[in-house]
Amino acid sequence: MNMGNTVQQDLLRQVEELRVEAQAALAQADTAEKVAAWHGEYLGRKGRLTGILRNLGSLTPDERPQVGKVANEVKTALEEALEERQAAIAQAELEALRRLESVDVTLPGRLQTLGKLHITTRTLRDIYGIFAEMGFQVFDGPEVETDEYNFQLLNMPPGHPARDMWDTFYTTTPGLLLRTHTSPGQIHAMRRYAPEPIRVILPGKCYRYEAVDASHETMFYQVEGLAVGRHITLSDLKGVLLNFANQMYGEGRVARFRKSYFPFTEPSVEMDIDCVFCGGKGCSICKYTGWLELLGAGMVHPRVLAWGGYDPGEFSGFAFGMGPDRIAMQKYGINDIRYFFSNDARLLERV
Ligand SMILES: [Zn+2]
Repeated sequence: MNMGNTVQQDLLRQVEELRVEAQAALAQADTAEKVAAWHGEYLGRKGRLTGILRNLGSLTPDERPQVGKVANEVKTALEEALEERQAAIAQAELEALRRLESVDVTLPGRLQTLGKLHITTRTLRDIYGIFAEMGFQVFDGPEVETDEYNFQLLNMPPGHPARDMWDTFYTTTPGLLLRTHTSPGQIHAMRRYAPEPIRVILPGKCYRYEAVDASHETMFYQVEGLAVGRHITLSDLKGVLLNFANQMYGEGRVARFRKSYFPFTEPSVEMDIDCVFCGGKGCSICKYTGWLELLGAGMVHPRVLAWGGYDPGEFSGFAFGMGPDRIAMQKYGINDIRYFFSNDARLLERV
């Protein structure tokens, strides 16, 4: 028996076993790292195939080529299998990534909650629109005012009893306060435009040191109106405000004017409209009177005109002030003003 031949057979068997085992192991390698480790173990410089081929020296020169040829075929086959495996793993990783980033277009959409304007803002915009059609422009005044603008130039000198109508937040700076009404804006507007005719509305926040309850807040909105020109009369005031009421609450409104008192208008009136909820029959919103209080108004006091820069012998004007928060409460059926600033989104969902 030829010893060399036995060794040759043995080496060929080892190569064949290695091929089978390597292919089975490769099928188990499912990541790039495992494939790299597999390459090191079977095909690397210190790998098992190289280890087998080191024994070629124990063969006769005739036997070596045959074992070498088989070993090369196995090596080529394993390298091809390796390339296929690497390509398959790369493809699988790409698909996994694609799945991760994919959008399932069959899923129902997520409901978007849209923002809404606050009802006071909506009411203010309605008011701006109605007065804009009558030629009134919006004029902004400061919220921090001087005693002079908030009171004195509106015909309320220091110590005037009418000051008690407005509980005031004073600052630590003498003579500086948070405006209690938008009326000081009348003086700002007149001093800006005198001696030109004026038609402005003055919207904004006002502040009063009051006990907070369902109908009173320390901060609230007002919209002041002012018209100054030649030959302006109380009829103009009534016409403008009745037109406003018809636009705001619907045509056919009935208005009534009651005499009132404001230091900066003479004569002064309160304007009511027939209750839009009960048609004047009486309900809880109009407190069973059939009337809704809409606003206070009057002809600009001659002294106020003069302080604004107009000659009261030549010019006249009317002014009015309304509470858009209260108008919004009536319009949207809200019974507590504190909801307006409590920052609860359910208020907006309701209306
Ligand atoms: Zn009513």
